[in-house]
Amino acid sequence: MRLARPLENLIDQLLILPTIGPKTAQRLALFILKLPATEARQLAQAIIDCREKVFPCPRCGYLTDVDPCIICADEGRDKSVLCVAEEASDIIAMERTGFRGRYFVLNKNFNLMEDKGLDGINLKPFIEKLRSGEVKEVVLALNPDIDGEILSRYLAKVAAEHQTKVTRLAHGLPVGGDIEFADELTLRRALEGRKEF
Ligand SMILES: [Zn+2]
Repeated sequence: MRLARPLENLIDQLLILPTIGPKTAQRLALFILKLPATEARQLAQAIIDCREKVFPCPRCGYLTDVDPCIICADEGRDKSVLCVAEEASDIIAMERTGFRGRYFVLNKNFNLMEDKGLDGINLKPFIEKLRSGEVKEVVLALNPDIDGEILSRYLAKVAAEHQTKVTRLAHGLPVGGDIEFADELTLRRALEGRKEF
């Protein structure tokens, strides 16, 4: 069955989203089609706004629309504790635990085992933070998988070169799981029980 071209196009666009298969894409497209014109426009505009206005904070890597981001701009935060995470979404999870230090996000969007290794990660802001001398502890909050392990070892080495204490989240996080999806209690326990690396 041949669909109207704009509808087909919308389905194709929705199919690029993760977890969306052909049936869901079709259902969503038909739902969008029924939306009032203003709501459909708002949805389209929200996607454009996100794409054009949100960027990784140059200081910490958190996704923001202002420089510095709200976390870096918050003077009430403990500058001596720096939590290193793989993705900005991990920060959202860490924030739910009540962590009040600062962050450094690697924004690692590739697989270390298959790709170019550590070269693709911009560690300059991390090293600058260590050099500033205000960081007393680096908390490694990387995913408990092979990439997380390789990165943890590497970052621990870099931090040690700057005489900075390194801890990592305690075990209890599911191996191969994502920090992003860890429940709040498990993550808070892992943070409280962090061990020296
Ligand atoms: Zn920031």
